[in-house]
Amino acid sequence: MARYTDPVCRLCRREGVKLFLKGERCYTDKCAIERRNYPPGQHGQGRRRKVSEYAVQLREKQRLRRMYGLLEKQFHRYFEMAERSKQVTGPALLTLLERRLDNMVYRLGMAGSRAEARQLIRHRHFSVNGRRVDIPSYLTKPGDEIIIKERSRSKDVFKRAMEISQRRGVPEWLELDPAAFTGKVVRLPEREDLTAPINERLVVELYSK
Ligand code: SF4
Repeated sequence: MARYTDPVCRLCRREGVKLFLKGERCYTDKCAIERRNYPPGQHGQGRRRKVSEYAVQLREKQRLRRMYGLLEKQFHRYFEMAERSKQVTGPALLTLLERRLDNMVYRLGMAGSRAEARQLIRHRHFSVNGRRVDIPSYLTKPGDEIIIKERSRSKDVFKRAMEISQRRGVPEWLELDPAAFTGKVVRLPEREDLTAPINERLVVELYSK
């Protein structure tokens, strides 16, 4: 599958916000947004042009898509699912993105970034409710238990992740039991739980044209 291979900090600088794509580094003053908060490239610091309504909507969609590390086609599929749901489309889209297993693993602090979570899931380090799951897009639901496999628990990556996670804490819709290397989805997040600077209404407007 095609994937983005250029430096990911460029994406944050392009979007003008922290997308938290690089694990621990994102929380330090080495973060590129802290040091050079302007778009990458030769004209990054140039005069800002007036932007059209379409450009604003497109930027917002790119920001959300890049935050979750999805390709356009995958992202659009989530939008279609959200549109078909009985909920309001914008919040439904955010809920669907949050339900992805790679996102839950990241939110629980079992991985430093969503990209790392995806890789660890593909390498079969996790099970959900006792069954092996190696599909990052697996949609979790309330009550699901995400477990780091016993044979993987001694790996440095998980020991370090557990330490960091205990220090930072996990969102209130999740529960982490670091001693058992287990996380639980207590409930799905409400719109007000999600604090990332995203205006999902703009994304809906863009796709509804
Ligand atoms: Fe973005 Fe993290 Fe890079 Fe900062 S360190 S620019 S938040 S990916």
